[in-house]
Amino acid sequence: MLKHNLGYPRIGIRRELKKACEAYWSSKIDYQELFNVGRKIRQINWIDQEKFGLDLIPCNDFSFYDHVLDMSLLLGSIPDYFFSIPEGEENINIYFSMARGFQKKGLDLKAMEMTKWFNTNYHYIVPEFKKDQKFYIHSNKIFSEFEEAKSIIKVIPKPVLIGPITYLFLGKEKDKSFHRMDLIDNILSVYIKIIQKLIDKGATWIQIDEPVLVLDLSTKEKEAFLYAYQKISNLFFNKINILLTSYFDGVAETIHLFRDISIQALHIDIVEKPKQLDDILPFFMDKKMILSLGLIDGRNIWKNNYSESIKYIKKSIDALGEKRVMIAPNCSLLHVPIDLNEEYSIHSDIKNKMSFAKQKICELNDLNSIIKGSKNILMENIHSLEESQKSLIIHDHKIKERVLQVEEKYLRRKNIFNIRQKKQNNKFNLPLFPTTTIGSFPQTKKIRSLRNQYKRKELSKKEYEKKIQYFIVDLIKKQENLGLDVLVHGEFERNDMVEFFSDKLKGFLSTENGWVQSYGSRCVKPPVIYGDVKRLHEMTLDWIRFSQTKTKKPIKGMLTGPVTILKWSFVRNDQAISNTAYQIALAIRDEVQSLENAGIQIIQIDEPAIREGLPLKKKDWISYFDWSIKAFRLSSSGVNDETQIHTHMCYSEFNDILEHISNMDADVITMETSRSRMELLKAFSEFSYPNGIGPGVYDIHSPRIPSVKEMFDLIKEASKNIPIRNLWINPDCGLKTRKWEEVIPSLKNMIKAAKLARRKIIDI
Ligand code: GLN
Ligand code: ZN
Repeated sequence: MLKHNLGYPRIGIRRELKKACEAYWSSKIDYQELFNVGRKIRQINWIDQEKFGLDLIPCNDFSFYDHVLDMSLLLGSIPDYFFSIPEGEENINIYFSMARGFQKKGLDLKAMEMTKWFNTNYHYIVPEFKKDQKFYIHSNKIFSEFEEAKSIIKVIPKPVLIGPITYLFLGKEKDKSFHRMDLIDNILSVYIKIIQKLIDKGATWIQIDEPVLVLDLSTKEKEAFLYAYQKISNLFFNKINILLTSYFDGVAETIHLFRDISIQALHIDIVEKPKQLDDILPFFMDKKMILSLGLIDGRNIWKNNYSESIKYIKKSIDALGEKRVMIAPNCSLLHVPIDLNEEYSIHSDIKNKMSFAKQKICELNDLNSIIKGSKNILMENIHSLEESQKSLIIHDHKIKERVLQVEEKYLRRKNIFNIRQKKQNNKFNLPLFPTTTIGSFPQTKKIRSLRNQYKRKELSKKEYEKKIQYFIVDLIKKQENLGLDVLVHGEFERNDMVEFFSDKLKGFLSTENGWVQSYGSRCVKPPVIYGDVKRLHEMTLDWIRFSQTKTKKPIKGMLTGPVTILKWSFVRNDQAISNTAYQIALAIRDEVQSLENAGIQIIQIDEPAIREGLPLKKKDWISYFDWSIKAFRLSSSGVNDETQIHTHMCYSEFNDILEHISNMDADVITMETSRSRMELLKAFSEFSYPNGIGPGVYDIHSPRIPSVKEMFDLIKEASKNIPIRNLWINPDCGLKTRKWEEVIPSLKNMIKAAKLARRKIIDI
């Protein structure tokens, strides 16, 4: 039974990679120093994994920025315009320019697009394809890393690459004259060369990641898959062991594709879809393939439950024999922090239940020993999980009781939208096309350093608060001068929209060094939800209340929604996720109530993660929406008809989920549309979306200042699709990443456009 790993975190235990990349970008170090840091990180990773007993150790899982971008470089899939810059040693300048853009030497090249990797929080650089594009081996990285790994560890390194179907699937056609799957022949010829070259260099195993196998694939994609792997298996069967991996969901629906393909091993995700084993084992019995079981959770930070895992291993061994079973984490460990031993302040009851990448590798070793007969290790695991589960700091019976007592009526506003709208109109007396913003305003260096100083205790609470007050007062003046109708306080006191709340809630902890790569050099430290969640005290009232005393216009209370808080954290796995969501929802509900009691009449509950949390397979959407929409409604429905609930999502792809968005029953939803040119609104119109909508008319993702005319045209377009009494005018997301020089003139134009609309559009 081979033990292997799909990929290891590459940022370094002290985020050395981040620091080195940023130093290189600002010319503080040269490429040699940068490469040295990379080499050191790889060395440590390989040695650790060998020390903890892996039989196959991944290489080429390291990346200076992103492994999908590495793949683009390997395949020579580089948009032509990047060749106008000086390549740099081993393409490093082209590589970073593709990721970050290039603005030097009279050139101004835009960075390539970036998007989320399946349903994770990791972002990859989206490959871009031309019609009839040719591919060729452009980078040596995979080969040199293989050689390098061979010189460091005794076991044979297993090169990892993204498979041709997943790679094409994740990319985008530059124009609509072709389908990217049409490029399969061109790209396959390069994959064949790569595999051959790895064989020549002595590779005996190669890992090809094809996570698209877990998606609802189209016929075209399935055909491309069959075509590619029949070709690969005909050429390479018995020459190298090919391990194809699937992860993030199950492959019961696509396993039949393997009927006519001969590869050595297939990896499946048992953590995410344990039930698929029963569907898949019969298929394996008819074939000679090895089954790789993804047992250790590569996306969460909890210790493995050995008795569970052993059940799956035994079942597989009984069916296939020990030689045809491998064990591994379910996916790359990229999504978890590196070493739990670097945490010094986590309560031992909780720490005993946790496991980071290093610990997860050891767990594989443990499982192997248990299979070989070690009873102690199994007993220890059972005992420690049982003990920590008893911990008093996890459980709060009052909270559990409160969730059980949630009644249907808590999930519904007192009256339907039409009635609420009338009451709200009477109360607020806002003009048609009311204007507002999404919440944050420029987070300047000054504000960030202010928060840091306070965090480091270099500033007293009093001094800090006085300065924040100053920023708020200034912002309120600015908004009044601009003529906005509904104001915000600006979120100057917030660092991150989830962390701000998780820091204040019972049941959450934050780690000291639990960094995970989000994209490039950007790392996040997700909070850990370890126990029952409760609001301990008011979370946002001080600043919102203060802001409301400074203006007669309504100030919008600003909260993060339960689904987003949950999705951007490591979530406990000892109870249903819905249960945890309802607990968070109740905590937010309490805050909503306090805001209402304090006289705040408009409250926004941001839910940017609702869309991205969608399960990968459509058939699972219903049950996801069932709890996620319920959680949102639980958080937002406790208020009176006159209190206006807003929500915000930063997406434009709602078409297929409108029904659910509408079930959230927010009085107003603001969202991103300015870049998709309002196409989305047609869908809202066909659906007859009943409530208020603020389609973003100002694209905040670009430094450009939109003109009055272009925003007016967007409003006109929107008015054709949405009843104008329901339309709001706003930017398409928060303004925290923008500069004041961009924000003020853009908002000025936005308000002019709204005023123009009030005069001109009434009749349409
Ligand atoms: N209120 C938040 C802001 O304005 C919303 C952020 C988001 O949409 N991700 O920054
Ligand atoms: Zn947004």
